[in-house]
Amino acid sequence: MTARLIKGTEIRDEILKELKAEVDKIKQEHGVVPGLVTILVGENPASVSYVTSKIKTAKDLGYKEVQDNQPEDISEGDLLSLIDKYNKDDSIHGILVQLPLPKHIDEKKVLNAVDPDKDVDGFHPVNVGRLMIGGSEVKFLPCTPAGIQELIVRSGVEIEGAEVVVVGRSNIVGKPIANILLQKAPGANATVTVAHTRTKDLAYHCKRADILIVAAGVPGLVKPEWIKPGACVIDVGVNRVGEKISEKTGKKIAILKGDVDFDEAKEIAGSITPVPGGVGPMTITMLMRNTLNSLKYRLGIA
Ligand code: NAP
Repeated sequence: MTARLIKGTEIRDEILKELKAEVDKIKQEHGVVPGLVTILVGENPASVSYVTSKIKTAKDLGYKEVQDNQPEDISEGDLLSLIDKYNKDDSIHGILVQLPLPKHIDEKKVLNAVDPDKDVDGFHPVNVGRLMIGGSEVKFLPCTPAGIQELIVRSGVEIEGAEVVVVGRSNIVGKPIANILLQKAPGANATVTVAHTRTKDLAYHCKRADILIVAAGVPGLVKPEWIKPGACVIDVGVNRVGEKISEKTGKKIAILKGDVDFDEAKEIAGSITPVPGGVGPMTITMLMRNTLNSLKYRLGIA
C-alpha cells in the first residue's frame, strides 16, 4: 500500500486563494484591509527569514504590513511601550512578536502585553483559556495546530469519533492540537490521547491511532510497525540531520527529516505528510487567517 500524500504546499495555496478573495471583498464592501505588524528584535538569521516570509505573504494578500525592526539592545520597557502603541492602533489587527527575544527581555511579559484580541499567534493566556472553554469563546487558534487541523479536514480524513494520538505535549503544538481536535465542533469531536516522554508504552498508543500526530522533535521516533494500516499520519517534526548543496542555488542547505520513518511509513499509512512540504507551509497561512479573522471580529462579520 502506498499512502496518499497530504501536500501542505497545495493546501496552503488553496487557502491563500480563499483568503485573498475574502480580503478583496471586505476591502470593496468596508474600505478596510487586515493590518499586521511584525516586530523583530535584533538580526537572528532564522528570525529574519521567518519574518521576511510572513511579510511577503501578507503583502501578496493585500494586507497592510508594518515591519517594525528594533535593535538587539532595545529595553524591555521600550518594547512594551511599542506593543502598547500597536494595541491602540485601529489599523492594526494582528501583532506578531518574533521569538526568540534577547535574554535581557522577559518573553512572557512581552507576549502577555499583546491585546488578546490582536494576538494572532494565539499564545496569550486569554486565548489559551478561550480554546480550553471552546465553542463561541474560541478566537485565535495557534497557527501550527490550526494548520494541522486544516490538513486533516481538507484531505478528507474523518476526525469525528476517530482515535487521535498526539506524541508531544508542548504549548505550541501538542497541547493545542489535542484541544482543537477534542472540541465539540465540526472538524473535531475526536477521542484524543496525548503521549510524552513518561508514556509507558508509546508503541501501544501509536498502534491504536486512526490519526497519529507526531510532534516530538526526535528524528525517526515513530517506527513503521507502530502505524495502524490505513491511518492518517501527520509528521510535525522538523529535524536537521545534515547538510547538502542545493541543486537550485548551489548553496549549502539543511537536510530535514521528520519524526516518522517516511519511506517505510508510507507503505502502511493511508495518508501521510512529507517533511518538508507537509505541516511547515501551513503555519504562516494560519497566521494570515487569524489576522483576517481579527478584522472580521472588529467589523462584526466573523
Ligand atoms: P518541544 O517543545 O521540544 O516538545 C516536544 C514534546 O515531545 C515534549 O512534550 C516531549 O515530552 C515529547 N517527546 C520528546 N521525545 C519523546 C519521546 N522519545 N517519546 C515521547 N515523547 C517525546 O517541541 P515542539 O516545539 O512541540 O516541536 C516538536 C517538533 O515539531 C520539532 O521538531 C519542531 O521543529 C517541529 N515544529 C514544526 C513546526 C512547523 O512545521 N511549522 C512548528 C512547530 C514545531 P516531555 O514533555 O515529556 O518532555
